[in-house]
Amino acid sequence: MTSIDYSTVEIKEKPLYTPPLEEIVEVLSRSLPSTFEYVSVTVDECPDLTQAPYNITAPGLTGNAKLVELGGPPYLVPLVRRDKIYDLAALLRHLRRDPALLIGAGAGPWPFLGVNCEGIIILRVESGRVQQGTRVVSMAGGSYRQQQLPDSETRTALLGNYLLSDGKPGKVIKVVAKMRIGKANFITAIREALQNHYGDKVVGLGGVFVLREGSGRYHVMPDFSTTELTSDEDVNNWLTFHEMKAPITHLGTLVTGDMELDLRVQHFHGFSAHGDGGHYHGDTAPAAAHYEAYFALAAAVVRVDAPAHTHHVGRD
Ligand code: ZN
Repeated sequence: MTSIDYSTVEIKEKPLYTPPLEEIVEVLSRSLPSTFEYVSVTVDECPDLTQAPYNITAPGLTGNAKLVELGGPPYLVPLVRRDKIYDLAALLRHLRRDPALLIGAGAGPWPFLGVNCEGIIILRVESGRVQQGTRVVSMAGGSYRQQQLPDSETRTALLGNYLLSDGKPGKVIKVVAKMRIGKANFITAIREALQNHYGDKVVGLGGVFVLREGSGRYHVMPDFSTTELTSDEDVNNWLTFHEMKAPITHLGTLVTGDMELDLRVQHFHGFSAHGDGGHYHGDTAPAAAHYEAYFALAAAVVRVDAPAHTHHVGRD
């Protein structure tokens, strides 16, 4: 299966608004208490992310941090575009990023497993050497199953939302939130707080959060639908939904506006040592919910191969 040649697809980059980290801390400290009983937001040194429970292949999230959005839901629905295979190591070379850490949420490489799958992308490149930490979760065999990709498999497919950085240690926004009392999920609460405050100035964050206690609702894509999926209802009937147990580590991005780039405004996928993982929808035991997050502020968004004809199905 040939992967996309990046010199033949459109790649656009637009700057994001980058307020001081301390200001974001103030905004979130004021807003998140309407969703969580306990909230602590600080500017902090990133912990060593190579350690459990993060298990990322680089120590930090900073150094020329940008959001990357690849493809989009129109390549998945109404019907799959099997030609949309992307080699992420080749993308980093094309963008001239080395050292680089690419982390986030998207589809996984269906040609590797032979079936459609969720991707929890963790790709590290240093001095040309690839270190693959990406997990995939599929429904091959009837129940969900998580696997780690080998260093030799750097492809993905269809769509993805990633934080791209040098993977260096440094200052990040730390958010701890416990006991959910509002309706929004953890990421929606953060995104809406920033959106309400910054309005037309679009802010983007990417990084990692751990659901330390409690449980959550996740979906795992089954193999591709052979009939057209034309509504969110069709998509939800096709997806498989599961309740999964903490601790689960999540990677992804959020952005407070579309920037006329057809962006997916939030997207996080989780993985864990006990095999639970998939696309995060929210926690399911509000009183037990305990989140710990580290976010880098992105200076720009890089849009790769956006679908020419778009729609709003399948973006939850
Ligand atoms: Zn997803």
